[in-house]
Amino acid sequence: MYADIIIDIVHEAVDRMFLYRVPDELVKEAAVGQTVLVPFGKGNRVRQGYIVALKEEPDYEPEKIKDLIRICPNELEAQERLISLGLWMKEQYGSTMIQALKTVLPIRDKTSEEEEKTVRLLLSKEAAKEKIKEYEKKHNVAKARILNRLIHEPELSYPILRKEERISLSTLITMEKEGVLTVERERVFRNPVKNPEDGRGIHKLNQEQQLIYEEFVRDYERGIRKTYLLYGVTGSGKTEVYLSLIRKVVEAGRQVIVLIPEISLTYQTVNRFYTYFGDRVSFVNSRLSKGEKYDQFLRAQKGEIDIMIGPRSALFTPFPNLGLIIIDEEHEQAYKSETTPKYHARETAQKLASLSNASLVLGSATPSMESFTKARMGQYRLWVLQKRANQRALPTVSVVDLRKELQEGNRSMFSRLLKEAMEDRLKRKEQVMLFLNRRGFAGFISCRACGFVLKCPHCDVSLTYHRGGRMVCHYCGYERPIPKLCPECKSKYIAAFGVGTQKVEAALYKEFPEAKIMRMDMDTTRKKESYDKMLSSFSKGEADILVGTQMIVKGHDFSNVTLMGILAADLSLHAGDFRASEKTFQLLTQAAGRAGRGKRPGNVVIQTYQPDHYAILAASRQNYEEFYEQEMTFRRLLHYPPACEILVIFCTSRQEETGILALNMIADYLKKVYGPDTLRLIGPGEGAFPKINDMYRRVLYIKEENQDQILAVRKKVETYIQTEEIFSQVHLYFDRNPMGIY
Ligand code: ADP
Ligand code: ZN
Ligand code: ZN
Repeated sequence: MYADIIIDIVHEAVDRMFLYRVPDELVKEAAVGQTVLVPFGKGNRVRQGYIVALKEEPDYEPEKIKDLIRICPNELEAQERLISLGLWMKEQYGSTMIQALKTVLPIRDKTSEEEEKTVRLLLSKEAAKEKIKEYEKKHNVAKARILNRLIHEPELSYPILRKEERISLSTLITMEKEGVLTVERERVFRNPVKNPEDGRGIHKLNQEQQLIYEEFVRDYERGIRKTYLLYGVTGSGKTEVYLSLIRKVVEAGRQVIVLIPEISLTYQTVNRFYTYFGDRVSFVNSRLSKGEKYDQFLRAQKGEIDIMIGPRSALFTPFPNLGLIIIDEEHEQAYKSETTPKYHARETAQKLASLSNASLVLGSATPSMESFTKARMGQYRLWVLQKRANQRALPTVSVVDLRKELQEGNRSMFSRLLKEAMEDRLKRKEQVMLFLNRRGFAGFISCRACGFVLKCPHCDVSLTYHRGGRMVCHYCGYERPIPKLCPECKSKYIAAFGVGTQKVEAALYKEFPEAKIMRMDMDTTRKKESYDKMLSSFSKGEADILVGTQMIVKGHDFSNVTLMGILAADLSLHAGDFRASEKTFQLLTQAAGRAGRGKRPGNVVIQTYQPDHYAILAASRQNYEEFYEQEMTFRRLLHYPPACEILVIFCTSRQEETGILALNMIADYLKKVYGPDTLRLIGPGEGAFPKINDMYRRVLYIKEENQDQILAVRKKVETYIQTEEIFSQVHLYFDRNPMGIY
């Protein structure tokens, strides 16, 4: 028997399959996806690899074929289906085979597992003190030291104990056997409270929902597999529909993957699935160690669970008989991978569904331009939920022109309308959310006398003001105190410009001294669980006003929030990204959807400097289709996805000239191969952040209507860059239909 092996080296030159002979004694163990050791190259160095195919006949000169050395035991067998998916991803998005395989195959990682351990004291303080005396008598100083520390901090992470108390894991394990403490691998949501009394997950479907469910069942039972786009306003009961579809598929003996953006994977959401499906559900998120994730995948393979919930990587759960994939909030940017292969979970799910004979359901209140276009063209079946499920009205929205406020003498960051509405809510003991699309205290630092802006010397982006007079680079972390005098003109008019959540918080304390205020942004939620804690504390009414960035507008259900203030709606319009309007519209619509989820009706106040922008107008009318039409006109006119495909060739280099030369050569090469005017080339030019971490960044865009053509272009470039020495001095990345800016 022979095996095609992919060697575990990220290097273009070995980016192909190598044929090996499987010795007779290994034939029984050999299976696609197994990890193997093989002799590789001239020196026959032992390398790790993966079996991607097995065959009886060699398609290579038999005398040149080497033998496999060993097959490594691996509990988790890689499925051929996932390997095909990996190879498809390589083709679509551009990567080496090994990068693609490593994306789809779960790989155990011993080191990260250790990092996640938590040590917990099991004894009372008194008992622990007794135990310390006992240890000291026996000269067990290390054990005594641990207990002394745990008496003050009954819960400690293992890496801290190891570093600060120099304790080995084996000492902890003997103490665990003595019943003194436990060593736990942390699992968030491990014991979700199962309380079906909260009334969720047990509703009878309303008529709109029921029709959708019935259509799905009809298709499913006839073996018809489709992609469905469930477009339903916030609170229309999409999750309720998912639950019924999942139950149907699970009852038919198949399994389900549910993708939810990491940021919405809160206790609330996960618990809703637990109440419905109990122990048959598992979830993964980025906070799990690789080992824990591997364990969950193992459970899936063994048939211990039916449903896996998680962010985009949950797609690679090795279920034996996948029947349905659901992608909630399908428009979310997080579904695009930022590392090579830069795959989009939506497209990848569609491929996986077809490889598995499964159905795919995409859901959103603001579908992506891509998906809505496909639904319009009939490639996806469109399902619409028009009403909020619980008879709650959609909130009323007012738009305030901030330019007018200023003209009329209001210099505060709260318009008069918003301020009145807030006063009113505080009086009625209802809650308010304020959304600001920014991070940190304020924007950049500039000189009002000469206009000089302080930038990071390594990244060439503006430094950001942080509390305590510091300025910080958000890309590389460079940090300095703000100078007293302008470095350029020596004036003293150097100060922070713009608004951030801290500044809003400070202004709120001034305007509403009685109110309890809570702030949520990257800085206040950095600690592992503080994000969930803050949300639950706010939902219990422990604060009157919640100020925050994007993270407060994603799918949380606060029934006492009746006012949502959007402080500067247009900030995200200037992101320098062709999706800026789409993102703004989505954020505003989602933010608006937060108000009035309970019994009392909600109001939304959108403050903006551009009240006439179509994204803001459409969001204020909560009219998705109006937005879609206008945006699509723009995309068609300027050849942006989904009207066109875009390939990004992105280059980073230590020397600026090398990067310039490398991309110019690619551009010239493409002009030569395709003729001067066939391809739409943009650039090469500087990236939006020309230099980060001392690396120069350049970018070349190629726009092309035909998807096959864009794949062909990428492959040509991949081959071309093997031929010239200069490309080994730069890093090149491919990104098809990018989500962010380069
Ligand atoms: P979405 O996922 O579209 O935001 P949800 O499924 O979370 O909507 O539903 C919004 C609210 O309406 C939830 O509180 C949910 O329990 C409730 N709900 C959904 N469907 C029904 C129904 N058929 N009957 C009663 N309440 C429902
Ligand atoms: Zn100056
Ligand atoms: Zn920097």
